[in-house]
This record gives sequence, structure tokens and C-alpha cells, in this order.
Amino acid sequence: MLKLKNVSKYYYQDGVIAPGITKINLELHLGEFVVITGESGSGKSTLLNVLSGLDTYEDGEMYINGEETSHYSEEDFLEYRRKYVSNIFQNFNLVNSYTVYENIELTMLLNGKNKNEIKAITENLIDKVGLKKYRNTHVSKLSGGQKQRVAIARALANDTPIIVADEPTGALDSKASKEILKLLYEISHDKLVIVVTHNKSEIASYATRFIRMHDGKILENTLLKKINLDHDLKSKKVSNITFLNKIMLGMRNAFNLPIKFLLMFIIFSLITITLISCYGSLKISEYEELANGYNEYFNNSKDNRIVINKKDKTYFTEDDYQKINQLSNVDYIVKNDLITDYELFINNSNFYLDGKINTQKINSVDVGNIPNSGSEIVIKGSRDNWYLNSMQDEILNSTFKSDEFAMEFKVVGIIYDDSFNEYTLEFYVSDEVLNNLLTNINKSYLNLTFKLNETYFNNYTDGIYLNILSSDVIPRGEVYIKDDLNYYCSNNNCLNKILNLNVKNIYVNNDYEFKITKILNSNNAKKIIGTNYNDILDNVYINNQDYIDIINSNIYQSSVFVKEIKDLDTTVKELNQLGFNTMEMRKAKLDEIEMLRQVFKIMKLIVMSILIITLFFITYFIIKIIYKSRNSYYTTIRTLGGTKKVCISILMAELITLATFTYIVFLIFIYLINKNVINYIYLQNITKYVGILEYIVVFFILILLSIIMSLRYGRKIFKNSIIKTYGERI
Ligand code: ADP
Ligand code: MG
Repeated sequence: MLKLKNVSKYYYQDGVIAPGITKINLELHLGEFVVITGESGSGKSTLLNVLSGLDTYEDGEMYINGEETSHYSEEDFLEYRRKYVSNIFQNFNLVNSYTVYENIELTMLLNGKNKNEIKAITENLIDKVGLKKYRNTHVSKLSGGQKQRVAIARALANDTPIIVADEPTGALDSKASKEILKLLYEISHDKLVIVVTHNKSEIASYATRFIRMHDGKILENTLLKKINLDHDLKSKKVSNITFLNKIMLGMRNAFNLPIKFLLMFIIFSLITITLISCYGSLKISEYEELANGYNEYFNNSKDNRIVINKKDKTYFTEDDYQKINQLSNVDYIVKNDLITDYELFINNSNFYLDGKINTQKINSVDVGNIPNSGSEIVIKGSRDNWYLNSMQDEILNSTFKSDEFAMEFKVVGIIYDDSFNEYTLEFYVSDEVLNNLLTNINKSYLNLTFKLNETYFNNYTDGIYLNILSSDVIPRGEVYIKDDLNYYCSNNNCLNKILNLNVKNIYVNNDYEFKITKILNSNNAKKIIGTNYNDILDNVYINNQDYIDIINSNIYQSSVFVKEIKDLDTTVKELNQLGFNTMEMRKAKLDEIEMLRQVFKIMKLIVMSILIITLFFITYFIIKIIYKSRNSYYTTIRTLGGTKKVCISILMAELITLATFTYIVFLIFIYLINKNVINYIYLQNITKYVGILEYIVVFFILILLSIIMSLRYGRKIFKNSIIKTYGERI
């Protein structure tokens, strides 16, 4: 039973009070079909809004099943509406982007019904209102009469004891009006149906009560048919929308309006790309600045190089190299890394070239041939290099020599690599040459001290600089010395005495002993070692293999080159865990304009922050505009009993779906770029420096943005009553 006692509702507008209804007394029961008429502005809508809890009243008292409602809060009225009232509106108030099925289903989803139940009821109702053919048609494509049928089906699906219809036929032609009123009557059994209409004649035969209003008051209230007044209003059971259904609605809303979807996709893409490129370019410039520095000890200061030695100061074993090779980010290892810092100078009568040694194997060359004999080499450099560009023919097949090590090289091929700058060259050499170079380089890093009798020969001792050379003819463990060294031995004779040798650098400190078995003099030198006596200088001669064992003894320092600089920190950590000391080349560079660099960095950060903040605001406003158009949707949700929390979570699910979808598309895009399926150098370069963590952070920023936006929007639409929000919409 619904009862009004002296109920009045006033509207305050521009300082003027307009009465909506004044001192209304009315009692309505279950089973009634109430028809209300009256001229425009007579208070019909106001009365219906008060009865259905869509609007508040100022004076008097409304009773629901005898309970007073003047103390009701907004939530109480919402609860009342959910349990008792369904509304049918002149302008249908359907979700145009949903199908007939989805519109009817919506109210039950909001009431927490389960999927199977919903399906059965919806199919049945579609049948009942005669829209079977239009089950999957979008509501926007239906005629007015069909739309109102959907609205009626939805009201029935809501399964409340009261159905309130404010001019449901106002927008329909007379034929459609007749059908709708008939349908309303058919469904009215055991319910309280209240209809405002001007089609009094057509509805007269159905009505059980007739009310005529004028100027906010009831002029006539006639009971036309007898009904059982004992009927009490039975509230329906309500529960809340399930979590999964909220997600489902959010996902449906994300994709069902193509234009809105596209706009949101563009906006989220823009934010993603801006954030990623801001971060990436910041990183790039950081590395470029580092790359402009230099290191006075290491010639090869590539960013992807890590110099390592073992924490226990022992030499490297094959096992160590195998372990390092198993790290995913390791590109290659240069075992004896002194070679990577070595600059080889070669010249012939016309040209003078210098470059680093590349120890990797080559499979092909751009010009000429792959080297096959020991002295053949290949040069690698940029096409902008003057020698390789203009003097290609003169250099190719020409012979060069190294003054430093008395070696000869024949250039047989050229490889172009335009990532090189125009001055840098690299040489590929044969294994034989590489070993030769390594021995020479190694030797230059070793500190050799000889001891003969009690005299130490280190650097220049008495004007003698002892140097060690090798020859096949000398037996292992023996040494041949020049006769002028006899002076340091007792009796001026060193034959069968011992020559001690100490070999030292930061890693090794080894002692060796050699027995002096031959003294070289002007008569025997040429015969024994094949060198003229005068060319021997301060050299001593030992066996070839002894020589190699001493000079190339063991490797104590190597270099690891990584594939991805962005993951270099991880590789360093892994190397440390394996027991290696590490020195990152990118951090070991000197920089003379450190201060200036810091200033630039801060400025860049400021500019980027401004950019991101601006982007944030632009996005925010665009989204606001887009979602202003969604007011009608969320007002509909509200009229169907959706609370603020429900509205916010549906919108949140929608925005998070859109953000996630956009982000996945973006990640696929980046993947394809890095696989070279799509050619986009800019993003490819930028993403080289962006790690997993940054991708996760950007994703969380998108999610955060979605959450903030849905909370703000929810607060906004619930600031006004449903009726007011309607007004804004129409
Ligand atoms: P009806 O539905 O019978 O045409 P209404 O209930 O809409 O009549 O209006 C009753 C009276 O209340 C009218 O005088 C109208 O001007 C006034 N009124 C209705 N809604 C508002 C409103 N939102 N603000 C101010 N006055 C209103
Ligand atoms: Mg009205």
C-alpha cells in the first residue's frame, strides 16, 4: 500500500518558489491500474517522481506499507526503488548501444541474478512483448513503439510490485500508443501500475482508478473497479551485482561504441608512447653523454663492455667461460681482452691506417674476399670513411706492414658498417696473426726481471736492457746468452750457470730458471741461432714453447660484451654472483663537463615533466568530454537501482579494459618493430633502453589514470539527483 498524506513538493528556481504538487492525499494498492491525466504543468510528473522515490517531497508524509518516509535518506529511497519500483519513461531511457537482449538483461545483472536465470527470463520477456525478431538488434535501430516494448520488458524483468509510467505513449503514434497501453494492462495483474497519459479514451476500459490533476492538486479520484484492498506491497529480493558481471559490463561498454572506443584508444596510445619515449630518450641521452667521455686506460670503451677478473685472483678456466656464455644477455667474450684495447698501426708507402682488432669470425665481406692465408686481413668501416670510399681500389690487395712487430698484412676484403663513424676502422686478422699480436701485446704488459749471479736486470741495468726472444733450436729449459754477459758471472764465465727470470703484472708473479748452455760470440752466433752477432743486441734466447708458456701463461682478465645495454645491470649482478669482479666500461669513462651535463639533465627533466603534466590534463579533459555523453547511460543504471559504487566500478572496468587493450596492442607493435616486421627506427632505438620494469610502471600509470578518472566521474554524476541529471541530458 502506498499512501500520501498532505504531501507537497516545491521547486525553487531563480529565487521563485513554484509548487509542483500541493497537499496531495492518495492511497494506492496492489492490483490497481491507475490512470492519471491533466493538462501540462498540472503536477503529474512531480507526483509520479515522488511516488517512485525519484524525487524528494517537502511537506506531508508518504507511507510505504504504513512506514513513514519523511526521514528517508537518499540511500533509503534507492533501496525502496530497488525493491518496489520500475519506471517507464516517455523517452524510453534505454541504452541505445545495447541490443534488445542486453537492455532487458541489464536490470537483472544489476540485481545480482545469475546468468542462466537471466537468460530464461529475458528470452521469455522478449517473446512476451513480441520482439523475438529483434532480439539482437541494437535499440537505436528500433521504432518508438518497439523501444517502449523493450522498456516494458525491462520493467517486468526488474520484477517490482510497482510500475510507474510517465506518458509512455507521448512520443508514439496512435496505433503504437494503443498497443503499448494494451501491453501495460496485460502485464498489470498483481502489480500496482500507475500511468500518466492523454489517451484517456483508449485506456478507460483498463483503468481501475482514474485521477485528474489540475494546478498541483487532485481534482478527481474515481475508483472504477472494485479491488481487494488487503493486498500489501511485497518487496522483491535484491542482491548486488556480482564482481564478474561488473567486469563483463565494463568490457561490453569498452567496445560497443566504435567512435568512443577509437578516441579512447588514441588517447591511451598517446599517453603510452609519450611516457615510453620520454623515458627512452632520457636514457639515450644519458648514454650518449657517457659515450662522449673517454677512458685513458682502455682504448675500447664501448658501452656494452664489462671488464672482469676473478675474485680469487686465479686465472680463467674454460669452465668459467662456459658459465659466462650461458648468461642470456652475453653477446660474446674476448678472453684475452688486451687485444680489444690494442690499436694496430699499419702502413705502406702511400697510406697509414690504424684500427682495433675485431676478434669475431667473419662469414662474408662486401668487397673482395674472406681471408684464408695468415697474412691476409679484412678492413671494416663506414662508407663515409675516406680510405674505404675514395681509395678502395688502391687499398684492396695492397700490402701493409706493422713497424711495431715486424709483420706484413695483405688487405683482401672490406666490410661496410655505417654505424661506425667516419674515422674508425677495425681489422679482422687470421688466428696466426692474432696469436702473434697477442704474444707481443701480452709481453708489453709484463714486467720482466732477469737475475744473473747476483745482478738484477730490470729496465736499463748498466746500459743493458735484457729482452727475451724465442727460437726452435734451443732445448727446453735452456737459454743462450751473448758473451758480454759473462762479465756478471764469476770467473767471467756464465756457461752452465742459471739465469733467473721473474714475470710480473697485477695478476701474476712467476719465477723461472734457465740453464745457460751456450754463450753466443762473434764466431758461433750466426751458426747457432742464424742471427748476426751484431744484431743480437741485448737479447737472450729460449725455446719457443717456453717462451709462449711464460708470456701467454694464463688469462687473468677478460671482457664480456652484452647484447642489451638496458639489461647490463642484471648481467653485472649475475657475473658478481658467479665470482667475478666487474668493471662497467660505461661507468669508467672520464667526463670533463660533468657539471654542464647535470644542468642539462635537470633541464631535460623539467621539460619532460611539463610535457607529461600537460598531456595528463589534455587527456583528462578529452575524457571528460567523451564521458559527458555517457551521462544518460549511468543515469539509466541509477534508475535501475545502480549505486554510486556500482557505477564507478563499471566505468573503472571499462577504462581499465580500454587501457589494457591499448597497452597490449602497443606491446605487440613494439615487438614487431624489434623483430623488424615493422620498420620504425625511432621507437626501435628508444625501446632498446626501456626495460621490463619501465613497461610495468607505464602500465600502472595507465591503470592509475583510469581509476582516478572513474572515481572523479562517479562523484560528479552523483552530485545531482536522477531527475536533475535527466534534465541536463534532455
Ligand atoms: P506535468 O508533468 O503535469 O506536465 P510537472 O509535474 O512537470 O507537470 O510540473 C508541475 C509544476 O512544477 C509546473 O508548474 C512546472 O513548471 C514545475 N516544475 C516541474 N519541474 C520543475 C523543475 N525542475 N524546476 C522548477 N519547476 C518545475
Ligand atoms: Mg510531465
